[in-house]
Amino acid sequence: MEVLLRDVSKVFPGGTVAVDTVSLDVRPGELVVLLGPSGCGKTTLLRMVAGLELPTSGQVMLDGRPARSVAFAGRDVAMVFQELALYRHMNVAENIGFPLRWAGFDDVARHEKVLAVASALGIGGLLERRPSQLSGGQRQRVAMGRALVRNPRLFLMDEPLSDLDAQLRSELRAEIVEVVKDLGSTCIYVTHDQTEALTMADRVAILKRGVLQDLGPPTQVYTRPATLYVAAFLGNPRMNLMEASVGVVLDEYVGIRFGGQGVGEQELRLPWLHMQARMLARYHGERIAVGFRAEALTPVGAGETDNVLHGRVRYLEHHGHESLAYLDIGSTAVQVDETGHDRTTRPARRGVRGILARLNSRPVREPVEER
Ligand code: ATP
Repeated sequence: MEVLLRDVSKVFPGGTVAVDTVSLDVRPGELVVLLGPSGCGKTTLLRMVAGLELPTSGQVMLDGRPARSVAFAGRDVAMVFQELALYRHMNVAENIGFPLRWAGFDDVARHEKVLAVASALGIGGLLERRPSQLSGGQRQRVAMGRALVRNPRLFLMDEPLSDLDAQLRSELRAEIVEVVKDLGSTCIYVTHDQTEALTMADRVAILKRGVLQDLGPPTQVYTRPATLYVAAFLGNPRMNLMEASVGVVLDEYVGIRFGGQGVGEQELRLPWLHMQARMLARYHGERIAVGFRAEALTPVGAGETDNVLHGRVRYLEHHGHESLAYLDIGSTAVQVDETGHDRTTRPARRGVRGILARLNSRPVREPVEER
C-alpha cells in the first residue's frame, strides 16, 4: 500500500502544533521509521495515517484514497502499540487467531494461519498458554502475531518494543523486519530509539517539534544529515560539530580554519581529492559548522605537528568493541575513536597536553542549515 502525506499539520485544541506541514511518500512494501524525541509528533502522525485522528490541514492518502475511509473500511491496516492488549481469558492461539474469526475463516484455515505466524515469530510452542503464563517478550510477539495474521497491506507500529530488554529488542526487531518483508506489506514504525531506526528502516524520517528534518536511507541520514539538528541527534557518539571557516582554496587542498572558542588558530588542510574538500570550497570566507564523526579523526603521536588538530585529552573510555578518547579542542568537546590504533599513536593519558588528531578520509560534512 502506498501512503502519501501532503502538507499535513495537526494543531490540538489549546494550540499545540503536534505536526507541522509534513510531506512524506511511503512506497508500497517500504519500511519507514519515524524517529524523534518524545513529544515531536510521531504518534500523532501515525494516528492520522491510521485514520484515528484527522489532520487540521493537508491530506493523508492510502493508495489514493483518504486514510480515514480506508482504515475504517477494512482489514488492510493493522496497528501494534506499545501498550499491548491481549485477551487474558484466551490462549495464544485464540489471541492470534481472533481477527480471523471476523474475517470468516473456518477453524482449519484459522489454525493453519495461526501456526504459520506463530512459528515465524518463534512462539509456535506456546499456543496453549494464557498471556499470564508468558514473558513480556513473548506477549509482545503474540500482539505482533495478531496484527500479522491478517496479512494487512499496511502496518503501523508505535514503539512496540520499548518495554522489552535490550537483548529481546534486538532479536525482535530483526524478526519484525523479516516478517514484514516476507509479507510484502508497507510499514510505518515509530520509535525514539535510533538503533532501531538505523537497523530496521529502508528510510528514516526524523522529526523535531512536528517538523520533518530529514528523510533518507539510514546511511544517508547518518553520514550526510540534512540539518544540524539531525547531525547532533543521530549516532552514538554524536557527530562532533566545530565552528570553522574555509580559508585558502588551493589546487591541492582546502584549508579549514578552526578559530574562536579558545582553539587558537588551527588549520587543517583537506586534500582536494576529498569530495568534502570540494563541497567546503563553496563556502570560502564564510563561517560554517563542520561536522565530523569520532571515527573520522585518527589519533597521532605527540611528535607529529603537520596537519593535525591539537586537543587536550580528558579521558579515555573503553566499550569493549571500541575505545573513545574525549578531547577538548579549545572549548569544544570532541570524541575520537581510537579503536585499532596502537599504543604509540594513542592519545596519551588524561591531562597530557598536545595530543593531536588528524582528519582522515571520511571527515567533513557539507555545512548544513539549521532549520
Ligand atoms: P512520545 O514519543 O512521547 O509518544 P510523540 O513524538 O509520539 O511522543 P505525540 O504523542 O505525537 O509525540 O505528541 C506531540 C505533541 O502533541 C506533544 O506536545 C503532545 O503533548 C501533544 N498532544 C498529543 N496528543 C494530544 C491531544 N490529544 N491533545 C492535546 N495535545 C496533544
